[in-house]
Amino acid sequence: MKYALGFLLLIACCALADTASESSFPKNLNVITRTEWGANPPVAEMKAHKPEFITIHHTGTKQNPGRTVEDKLRGLQKFSQREDQLASGKTKPAWPDVPYHFYISVDGKLAEGRDLKFVGDTNTEYDPTGHLLVTLEGNFQEEKPSDAQMKTTRQLVRFLAKRYKVPASKIGSHKDYAKTACPGENLQMLLPELRDVVKATKTQ
Ligand SMILES: [Zn+2]
Repeated sequence: MKYALGFLLLIACCALADTASESSFPKNLNVITRTEWGANPPVAEMKAHKPEFITIHHTGTKQNPGRTVEDKLRGLQKFSQREDQLASGKTKPAWPDVPYHFYISVDGKLAEGRDLKFVGDTNTEYDPTGHLLVTLEGNFQEEKPSDAQMKTTRQLVRFLAKRYKVPASKIGSHKDYAKTACPGENLQMLLPELRDVVKATKTQ
């Protein structure tokens, strides 16, 4: 009986350990994990990397407060994992998973995207190896990031910079590395503010 109980405890502990390793984010970040939004597994192998940069994007689509972030992530994953036509007329290949590591919706909710251990994807000419890709919902050539979005972005950038020892000089946007309008003027102008957040945070 004693052994049986010990065995059961062992199983229970392993199950708990599994849940913990799946999303090792601090509670106060309120990350909606892949399990929580109902992610499918990646459909192809991905390249491992060491995170060194934090790189900000916009989705390039209009902010939609009427749809849940879980639903937006499922939609993004469906689009990501198939070959599809882009607005530019270019065709994108099927990617293994969503291209970004984090998604911040207009209401400031934060969802886990691709596993941070793996390189993201892009339609543009730069190598995203080493880049932690964070996208904010919206087209910031026309719209403005919401206060809730910026609050979450600051919290996330602070956390990532600390965990991966990313200096302020390596906080950038898509536009800093490739020929693109992403993340739009209205978000690009807030980049110095994000670098300040990191400068004010001890990385040790
Ligand atoms: Zn981008």
